[in-house]
Amino acid sequence: MYTFTFERPAAQADAVKLAQAGGKLLAGGQTLLASMKLRLAAPEQLVDLGAVKELAGIRKDAGSVTIGAMTRHADVAASKDVQAAIPALAQLAGGIGDKQVRAMGTIGGSLANNDPAADYPAGALALGATIVTTGREIAADDYFQGLFATALEEGELITAVRFPVPKRAAYIKFRQPASLFALIGVFVAQTDAGVRVAVTGGGNGVFRHAGLEAALGKSFTPEAAAGVATDPTELNGDLHGSAAYRAHLVGVMAQRAVAKALA
Ligand SMILES: Cc1cc2nc3c(=O)[nH]c(=O)nc-3n(C[C@H](O)[C@H](O)[C@H](O)COP(=O)(O)OP(=O)(O)OC[C@H]3O[C@@H](n4cnc5c(N)ncnc54)[C@H](O)[C@@H]3O)c2cc1C
Repeated sequence: MYTFTFERPAAQADAVKLAQAGGKLLAGGQTLLASMKLRLAAPEQLVDLGAVKELAGIRKDAGSVTIGAMTRHADVAASKDVQAAIPALAQLAGGIGDKQVRAMGTIGGSLANNDPAADYPAGALALGATIVTTGREIAADDYFQGLFATALEEGELITAVRFPVPKRAAYIKFRQPASLFALIGVFVAQTDAGVRVAVTGGGNGVFRHAGLEAALGKSFTPEAAAGVATDPTELNGDLHGSAAYRAHLVGVMAQRAVAKALA
């Protein structure tokens, strides 16, 4: 490590001021602290959001669930409101990393980081969530912008994420056993606006799968998903799996997700 200053504001307004002055936001630290240890990040000031009470918590309204940015993965997984309204989201949170990661990691940190194999981006995109920040509301379709890239601006803080309650939804991931991230994860959602399918782990960032959405829009069945091929030239390959293998996994995970959503 190296020298940096540490602030722990109790009010959101103070956190915003510090972030706008160049402070680096610290949520669960599960990504940021490792980056600092590896010297991939070297902020001069950390702004710990842990004491900003208004940023944590889960609220259920008619037709939506709103999750505060500092809500830990374990709390989303255990939430009776999330389990009742969007069980697929509670299950997604319960499948992130290991127990320690779930005890510390937050939904705001995960979405701000936008790792190309992370789970929450798939849930947010497939469910058509809204990312609420200190300055505006951003539709998930506009928020995710590729490898670790988002629509967030310097000093902009995610305060909450609002998820519309779908008719049906499910998420299945094929876990990369060393990292616990998704080698491929597919989130399917039947919503008022039609079927939405988001894939994580396959490319430079989470993306919607037009072919699966069209097929499942006509027939929301595993058989319909089985008939859709994924172009491997649009996916990444690495030592954990070739692009062709990942393309095959997209189809398999999609079939399983649809079967789970229907169960
Ligand atoms: C061993 C291990 C396994 C993991 N497995 C998985 C997995 O299976 N699936 C998965 O999805 N993830 C996984 N993760 C990542 C984990 O979910 C992290 O919690 C997440 O990526 C970052 O969240 P955090 O709260 O720890 O954020 P931090 O590490 O504190 O911050 C990450 C980034 O987000 C910014 N930030 C944080 N909060 C906000 C905010 N409210 N507004 C704006 N910017 C903000 C920070 O400045 C920083 O740039 C794993 C991590 C580890 C260490």
